[in-house]
Amino acid sequence: MNMATKVERLDEPEYDDDAPLYEARRKIYPIAVHGTFRKIKWTLLIVTLGIYYLLPFLRWDRGPNAPSQAVLVDLANGRFYFFFIEIWPQEIYYVTGLLILAALVLFLMNAVAGRLWCGYLCPQTVWTDLFQAIERMVEGDPRERREKLKTASRGRRAFEAASKHTLWLMVAWWTGGAWVLYFADAPTLVWQLFTGTAPMVAYLWIAILTFTTYVLAGHMREQVCTYMCPWPRIQAALTDEYAFNVTYRYDRGEPRGSFKKTEALRAAGVPAGDCIDCKQCVAACPTGVDIRLGSQLACIQCGLCIDACDTVMNKVGRPTGLIAYDTEMNVERRMKGLAPVTKVLRARTLLYAGLIVIVGGIMVATLAMRGSEGVSVIHDRNPLFVRLSDGSLRNAYTLRIVNKQSLPRRFAIAVDGVPEARLEVVGGISVTENGHPVVEVGPDQTYELRALVSTSAKLPANASLPVTFSVTDVVGGETTTAPDHFKGP
Ligand code: SF4
Ligand code: SF4
Repeated sequence: MNMATKVERLDEPEYDDDAPLYEARRKIYPIAVHGTFRKIKWTLLIVTLGIYYLLPFLRWDRGPNAPSQAVLVDLANGRFYFFFIEIWPQEIYYVTGLLILAALVLFLMNAVAGRLWCGYLCPQTVWTDLFQAIERMVEGDPRERREKLKTASRGRRAFEAASKHTLWLMVAWWTGGAWVLYFADAPTLVWQLFTGTAPMVAYLWIAILTFTTYVLAGHMREQVCTYMCPWPRIQAALTDEYAFNVTYRYDRGEPRGSFKKTEALRAAGVPAGDCIDCKQCVAACPTGVDIRLGSQLACIQCGLCIDACDTVMNKVGRPTGLIAYDTEMNVERRMKGLAPVTKVLRARTLLYAGLIVIVGGIMVATLAMRGSEGVSVIHDRNPLFVRLSDGSLRNAYTLRIVNKQSLPRRFAIAVDGVPEARLEVVGGISVTENGHPVVEVGPDQTYELRALVSTSAKLPANASLPVTFSVTDVVGGETTTAPDHFKGP
């Protein structure tokens, strides 16, 4: 049959000008489906939730003086530990880089295949999926629920509802519990939580996250995606006609009709579509969308309607793929008898991929090259300089030396750039190395000291000489520097 002969799309949405602005919410109870996309979603659900719940318990050996938790946000000491990476507060730009990288990956996913993030990876999707699975497990699928409303005793329905909410609250509680484990040594905090000795802030955060998870995933569900989340609006502006999306191939599906009717039409030589109007795609949709009406903001692109429709097509002996990842443009091309076009490599995907490589490369390079020591310097503002009784000039600075290793280290301090410079440091330092003052900095710590630089050399009027402070590990020899200026009258 020539697909181009059955091009009419019957079910375009109609708009009623007198319709109220706000529609009452229809509670959605999606049916369970089986198929490729359901398997992908189960796999991703297990992997992502498994990582989230178990990662705080993963250990990572950083030496005797450092925490042994692989991923840890140490708020008290201002550190973020991620396996072998340790981010200090002054390196917050790595977090900025990570956020930029995440945004670019999101843009790329969107340019290739629409709302992949929303459909498979977004926490709201993952937890809602889990909560709906619990609901089906306890109360049955939608048909069973409807039956029970008519036949089951009140006691049984109340028991099932109580069981469902208890299970939801348990998942929500563990979700909040796992979150706080990222901010302290997980095994210790678990013990403290169970013995009632954990800090009050931990209980508070668990309570907040238990509540929000229970409400967002159990009660609000698709409303979060449809009304609260800005991403559907943003991604709509970022997509183009080549991006793959879950698409009802109306070139194949229309004119739709019951199986019997379409078979009878076909037998009589009248064109009929493959869609048998069973509405299983709608029944499977977690956001209540009828994908046959075209792409919609509420569609999170989860692919479950593909599985539902493929199951139906297999049952009625028609080819699968009536709903599939496709483009609206290709549907229209097929309707005109043209071959579909696939263009994954195009300007925007190449641009996003290129930016990901550049940003990722810069981050990896800076991480690989960064030293395990650092120094920062601040010149005294008032006074900028003082004239000493012997006629020499003196500038004062505050130095902060950072030791990022898990062992104590000794650093020799030197200054360069001022003729006949004399360096004196204040901060309990008595040892010198080759004439330079030496300071010991504890493992994974910073050390702050005052540095006084004086010179008897004659300087030009309004002098502002560039100076460099250098800090050298007296054992390993690693050196780091910080620039500033020496001011004169
Ligand atoms: S229409 Fe299909 S892809 Fe979109 S949300 Fe519903 S089930 Fe998922
Ligand atoms: S599941 Fe497939 S056949 Fe059934 S209504 Fe949806 S698109 Fe048509």
